[in-house]
Amino acid sequence: MADMQALEQRLEGISVQDENYENGTAPAAPSKTSRDASATSSSSQTRLKLPLQKLPSNATASTTNTTIKSNPQPHATSKPSAPNSHRASDLTPLPVLPNPAAKPNQSATSPPKSFHLGLFEIGKPLGKGKFGRVYLARERRTNFICALKVLHKSELQQGKVEKQVRREIEIQSNLAHPNILRLYGHFHDSKRIFLILEYAGKGELYKHLRKAGRFDEGRAAGYIAQMASALKYLHGKHVMHRDIKPENILVGIHGEIKISDFGWSVHAPNGRRNTMCGTLDYLPPEMIRGGGAGGAGEGWYGEKVDLWALGVLTYEFLVGEAPFEDTPVMTQRRIARGEMRVPGFVSAEAKELICRLLVLDPEKRVGLEEVERCRWVVKHCGGMGRGKKEEGE
Ligand code: AMP
Repeated sequence: MADMQALEQRLEGISVQDENYENGTAPAAPSKTSRDASATSSSSQTRLKLPLQKLPSNATASTTNTTIKSNPQPHATSKPSAPNSHRASDLTPLPVLPNPAAKPNQSATSPPKSFHLGLFEIGKPLGKGKFGRVYLARERRTNFICALKVLHKSELQQGKVEKQVRREIEIQSNLAHPNILRLYGHFHDSKRIFLILEYAGKGELYKHLRKAGRFDEGRAAGYIAQMASALKYLHGKHVMHRDIKPENILVGIHGEIKISDFGWSVHAPNGRRNTMCGTLDYLPPEMIRGGGAGGAGEGWYGEKVDLWALGVLTYEFLVGEAPFEDTPVMTQRRIARGEMRVPGFVSAEAKELICRLLVLDPEKRVGLEEVERCRWVVKHCGGMGRGKKEEGE
């Protein structure tokens, strides 16, 4: 009990609020965006992690019934709230974290009834996002190492992102793939929400990319093969990520990539959504135009948005900057026209893949299986879907 109080105090003492609210004022929370702006060229200020605008809501009604409902339970839980009818078949809850509360005659790996802060020893801070801090943590009973993300409810409310966080929890806790960051469970108290996440030992891919300038072709191909595998898994569950970019990819201890940040992801069993969101540099033309050129209809787009983003990611890995980087207005204009140039130092095989992904018509973009089988990936990864050179950082 004393232990738990000490932990509570420690977390209170280093809360997001304390750090961000100096002199009683509330400055803009530091975010990946502000880090981008200082670390790279001015055009990277366009890499906003915000809804850019909502398109006319004439068709929203048919999509909102597929989004995630709130969890009304007031107490800690390791399970997501009851899935709605669309979700049940696609997203199966996956109990994974060894049960810290198991009695001696119970299996230590049976799903825990509930998590709470006292079960964890809190270690070093791993990073800070817009709405919370992430700490290295150890589950005391099993020594299970994880990352604990602490979100302050008041800040989520102020930022009007409660729905986004709820969606992130619901979707991510039902996914299990080696290249997708696991969410083992969550719990909350009166002020905070705690997410128990898989620990990604090598941190942010974005930082590795900035440090390296650009990745060599073998390393980039390995990452893209892993991305394709993860996206195939997601799309198979009718989940679109919608915010693929280096800032949202972490690196595991073995150099494998882990897609994280499902704040903009959506479960859409009908395969189409019409909310405009995401990051400007990675925005697909159908979101700018407000409808798929491939016959998806006005204001609609589908999982092919992630394929466009995969093309932008491939380019950025190899070139060190996004293909349409420019002023915000020009970026949108260039995306809408598909105006980009692949530098001569990029191999013909990689260029071929980029050009087959960055296709204006979503329906004509190359599929994920073809990405895994393309000449470039096969040349560097032997078509195994795993990079050989991903340990290079
Ligand atoms: P986020 O709020 O999710 O953007 O996280 C803020 C920062 O914490 C990230 O940019 C990472 O540097 C770090 N971080 C978040 N989650 C993890 C994790 N699971 N493992 C390691 N580091 C993490």
